[in-house]
Amino acid sequence: MLSTMNDGPLSIARIMRQGTGPHGATAEVVTWTGAESRRSGYAEIGREAARLAHALRGLGVTGDQRVGTFMWNNAEHLTAYLAVPSMGAVLHTLNIRLFPEQLVYVANHAEDHVVLVDHTLLPLFAKLLPEMKTVRHAVVVGGDASALEAPAGVEVHGYADLLAGQPEEFDWPELDERSAAAMCYTSGTTANPKGVVYSHRSIYLHSMQVCMTDGMALEQGDRGLAVVPMFHAMSWGLPYGAFMVGASLIMPDRFLQPEPLVAMMTAERPTMAAAVPTIWQGVLAELAKEPHDISSLREVVIGGSACPPTMMRTFQEDYGITVVHAWGMTETSPLGSLARPPAGVTGEDEWPYRVSQGRLPASVEARLVDDDGRILQWDGLSIGELEVRGPWVAEAYYGDDDPEKFHDGWLRTGDVGYLTPEGFLHLTDRAKDVIKSGGEWISSVELENQVMAHPAVAEAMVIGVPDEKWSERPLVAVVLREGETADAAGLREFLSGSVARWQLPEYWTFITEAPKTSVGKFDKKRLRKQHSEGDLDVIHLT
Ligand code: AMP
Repeated sequence: MLSTMNDGPLSIARIMRQGTGPHGATAEVVTWTGAESRRSGYAEIGREAARLAHALRGLGVTGDQRVGTFMWNNAEHLTAYLAVPSMGAVLHTLNIRLFPEQLVYVANHAEDHVVLVDHTLLPLFAKLLPEMKTVRHAVVVGGDASALEAPAGVEVHGYADLLAGQPEEFDWPELDERSAAAMCYTSGTTANPKGVVYSHRSIYLHSMQVCMTDGMALEQGDRGLAVVPMFHAMSWGLPYGAFMVGASLIMPDRFLQPEPLVAMMTAERPTMAAAVPTIWQGVLAELAKEPHDISSLREVVIGGSACPPTMMRTFQEDYGITVVHAWGMTETSPLGSLARPPAGVTGEDEWPYRVSQGRLPASVEARLVDDDGRILQWDGLSIGELEVRGPWVAEAYYGDDDPEKFHDGWLRTGDVGYLTPEGFLHLTDRAKDVIKSGGEWISSVELENQVMAHPAVAEAMVIGVPDEKWSERPLVAVVLREGETADAAGLREFLSGSVARWQLPEYWTFITEAPKTSVGKFDKKRLRKQHSEGDLDVIHLT
């Protein structure tokens, strides 16, 4: 028997209507401009979204074409978040921090038709555009569009000119809730980034979790500070959550350094915020240098990498702000788990729960699997790889079979840990060999290959090691060729031609033999153990 309930689609347009209608006059998006803010009410953002949708139709976006964004967190990016999926097209948030080759790869792989680009990012984007084979239109947001030279077959437009005079209403189509709304590539695994395609339905359901008390607890009247980039797992769901319940959004644009962030917080009084630990570390250091009033913050959600317990304590004890530790992945929309203590647990007793990765909501089923594929107990002891599935968890990558990652509908997270009988997740390790520095991935394989390109190097292994500022940084273990010499500073200098500056390793060690597994692969577990037991002579370049 089927239900008697209406089957209206769960869609971004529905979220948009709620934000621009009932909350249109009270909620606003604030974009920081360096010293002050520009602001737009949600009703105005709704009109802007209609103008953008008409403009994009004019550029030939009529079906599920991909519209890329190469943008910071700001009002225009938010407008694209609403307009692009609601008109039936697919929003592709390009991660401006990927390697140039990876950016070209993802734009070509997704077949982006239009790209919206912040004018401050033009120097970087101009080098990529000629290689983006399917892009027909580049829309420059802010600044002077004529600063971007159009390669053959591409038209360049100014955002303001393109939207000027467009109608303020749009006949948003009724879409299948399972159709693609947005896509985001993750570079966390192997060579090529993998595309995760979110549906209207998955985003809608995820947004409800963002707003649940046991989720990110975003509610009307909140002022949510979205430091987490809009190109990183949909800014952890804040923009859509905020539109759903009428919370305002505070966007830092490109001013992500501790000093302007603190200035913005003092001026704009956020009530909650979300960012990776590295950002908060900078903010706390800035506050220690010069006190500012951040007492408007009720909670900050920290995730993307393990949040150091000392950071959580500092927030609580020095500022009276609760940290909610969260775990998630691009593939999980990204909310996986949130660390809120069980009801009735208070005071010191809360801490074992709060420092864990937290509990998974009803929509994210989890299991732990050992190396032989056996399902493990949630006994607080058995350690295995975490697998998850659910209505906002991916079960495939876009156009890229990866049976290693997905099986029987389950996502192999690559994260290793245990679950307690009460359902709290504790991550202890990572099965994959990548490094997360300040919330951004560094591929160890990529670095190894670059180091091994040096004529004096026989083998190079790279692992992530704890770092106070960046959570993790790469450590390179080098085996030199017989009779050859090289030092750490010289090798780093050699890398600087091929590796992005922020990825250049500062930790180096020279070893006589690389530990290997039975099948001859680098045994990183053993190298990690040697490092953690202090058996390696580590050189720290400053
Ligand atoms: P991404 O898809 O770039 O968001 O990266 C997802 C990965 O980040 C996860 O698979 C974890 O390895 C790591 N991660 C995210 N949140 C946490 C956390 N709270 N603690 C430890 N690792 C985390």
